Amino acid sequence: MDILVIGGGGREHAIVWALRKSPKAGTIYCAPGNAGIGQIAECVPIAVHEFDKLTAFAADKNVGLVVVGPDDPLADGIVDAFEAKNIPVFGPRKNAAEIEGSKTFMKDLLHKYGIPTASYEKFDNHEAALAYLNTQQAPIVIKADGLAAGKGVTVARTMEEARQALHDIMVAKVFGESGAQVVIEQFLEGQEMSILSFVDGETVRPMPAAQDHKPIFDGDRGPNTGGMGTYSPLPHIDPAIVEKAIETIVKPTAKALVAEGRPFRGVLFAGLMIQPDGTPTTVEFNARFGDPETQVVLPRLKSDLLDIFLAAVNGTLADVDIEWSDRAAVCVILASEGYPGSYPKGRPINGLEMSTDVEDAVVFHAGTALNEQGQYVTSGGRVLGVVGLGADIAEARQKAYEKAERITFEGKQNRTDIAAKALV
Ligand code: AMP
Repeated sequence: MDILVIGGGGREHAIVWALRKSPKAGTIYCAPGNAGIGQIAECVPIAVHEFDKLTAFAADKNVGLVVVGPDDPLADGIVDAFEAKNIPVFGPRKNAAEIEGSKTFMKDLLHKYGIPTASYEKFDNHEAALAYLNTQQAPIVIKADGLAAGKGVTVARTMEEARQALHDIMVAKVFGESGAQVVIEQFLEGQEMSILSFVDGETVRPMPAAQDHKPIFDGDRGPNTGGMGTYSPLPHIDPAIVEKAIETIVKPTAKALVAEGRPFRGVLFAGLMIQPDGTPTTVEFNARFGDPETQVVLPRLKSDLLDIFLAAVNGTLADVDIEWSDRAAVCVILASEGYPGSYPKGRPINGLEMSTDVEDAVVFHAGTALNEQGQYVTSGGRVLGVVGLGADIAEARQKAYEKAERITFEGKQNRTDIAAKALV
């Protein structure tokens, strides 16, 4: 079966890499892909928002399955566009993807069905929002309603910071229409954890839990990024808490979406906070694989990913075999100088070949390209995800850093404390 994967980051490289292992997979196309994906799939120069071109390409190549990676096209209805052409597609329709595309929709849904989440108020008017904010105390969280490339959330430590965030979103309109509404939310304390699940309507098949590191610098300092590293499993978190999160948050949310006439099919990503008393509560939902969570979760999958995607599309997810390896995985992101601010592109990457000497490690490309001389160069903020695998987190971490050190480019930055929390 020929397959089209949509997207071009580390997440899509990990998805293509896992699909490549399926004996049923024929040609895998990836639009637009990147230089690393190009080693194992056929990259197609079509952007993720060019729905007409993508559906025409899939029809022309008679692909048996389309898999959508990124959030923006899902929120804009890419799945509906493929379904209108009767092309099988793995991902939620627009009305289900709204769980990520609109924070007010997500909060209202959870509130209506009694699913745990931080208390909140929503506003579409700056004056009213500011009046409410002035009755609150820091720390407090200000969120733009719509998608904002991961930058729409401010965890304000002071009231001044909170007022500034509100002003940026509603007056300066730095996120455009995504900031037409805001959510002002109670600050939650605790440990964060992500649970990604394959979902088809009410059937929820959880993947092993993972933890991301959002801030750019060691010790969780500096501005938030798209994610600087991940690890899975989480040996320091009681499995009973993970189970509780699945039973009290993930499954009820899938059920609520069905009850609302918006059945979710795809990967439902729950961003959770384990509060100091051990109770999990919801921070956010995403409507797709997380990046970089995917890079540590999919290498632990023992079953055939293509079978799982097809089962979700055919509504038989409850019956498919999904087995996970006991091995641990750690992903260290290598980022460009200046990221998450502006960064240079086109810097030559050295040592990728040498890094193949490290066993039990794999490199997923996020922002890479090939220059005219056929050399890998940087082309994004997050450049590579280096994943180590091992019997436990300590071994996986050692493999990841060993491999990461062999890869160099000017201005390379990476955190040195990925998964350190799990070693204590
Ligand atoms: P979101 O885009 O909603 O995931 O928010 C981005 C990040 O902001 C999360 O991963 C958390 O680290 C943090 N965050 C969001 N909401 C809260 C909250 N209510 N309390 C504490 N931290 C939060």
